[in-house]
Amino acid sequence: MLALSKTITSKLLLTAAVALAAVAAISPASAQGRLEARYVASLAGIPIGSGRWVVEIADTHYAAEVNGSTTGLLHAFTGGEGSTIARGTLNAGRPASSIYAATISTSKKTEQVNLTTSNGDVKDFKVDPPPDADPERVARFFDQAGALGIDGITVSPGYAYERAPDQAHFLTRARTKQLFRDIFRRGRGARAWSFSQSGLFLDFLAGNQEYRCTPWGNPTRNVFGWQRPCYLLGEGYASSFRQLMEETDWDAYGTGNYEKCADCMVHSGYEATAVQDAVRHPLKALSVSFRGVRTEGAMAQEISLKRQRPASYVFSGHVQQKLAEIRITQARAEEPAAP
Ligand code: SF4
Repeated sequence: MLALSKTITSKLLLTAAVALAAVAAISPASAQGRLEARYVASLAGIPIGSGRWVVEIADTHYAAEVNGSTTGLLHAFTGGEGSTIARGTLNAGRPASSIYAATISTSKKTEQVNLTTSNGDVKDFKVDPPPDADPERVARFFDQAGALGIDGITVSPGYAYERAPDQAHFLTRARTKQLFRDIFRRGRGARAWSFSQSGLFLDFLAGNQEYRCTPWGNPTRNVFGWQRPCYLLGEGYASSFRQLMEETDWDAYGTGNYEKCADCMVHSGYEATAVQDAVRHPLKALSVSFRGVRTEGAMAQEISLKRQRPASYVFSGHVQQKLAEIRITQARAEEPAAP
């Protein structure tokens, strides 16, 4: 199996493997001609797609085409039937570069997946239309994670934070809560799956808790220092943990306080709040654990955004300043020592 970039998502890994596994399985000694066979593609032994592959191999390039269905773990991401075409170059009988295009259809929609790899790294990936939040798909993924023996799922809703390259396809808080209700309903109020997060955080995601963010709950440190206020927002850096904790105006952040936080329900700020609530109200936490997350009925009141302060776009300025400081420090270190 090809080794693909670790920086890409599991979805990419799996999608790439469908097309490439068939090619990678052909030994260099027989790397000429045309192969037509029913093929079940797999990734580390996990079936991800099946169909009738037609593979044409020459000395330096190959072309493969399959009509079939996604299975196993890949089915959790892109369920359906479709056709896949892969073309690329070969080096010692193994794919060096590939262009992969799949059209996968279900009764509801058709997705076009395009993927380019080079020497095992994914260079470009696009799904059209962009994947929307589909509760059935997420629930299937949780089922598959359990079937694989994964004993702790960490889940968090995305939102259009400042540095997110695609601002158009993230969820608002209202859509996030409904989505999680629709997901958890498919798994006995989330009890069907094993999460590594607190039950009250899951309950919050389903709109049953009115929590305020605890921005310092998951401190972030990077090459510039301790990032204020959290890993999603970069609004300055502290040189020590004490300085971060004591000199950051924490009340200036969080949903209702700051425009950039308006749609955030991310674990980095809200899991800490849920844990504090569980310590203060253990019976409430136990109740959610035993009964599951409530997926019907009224939701908790939403935080008003009327008094939030407007967004301040300071991230790039802080990064430039830190980079300048690093360059000055490096230049000083490289100066020859005085005789
Ligand atoms: S709400 Fe909290 S965790 Fe979310 S972006 Fe704002 S400070 Fe960060």
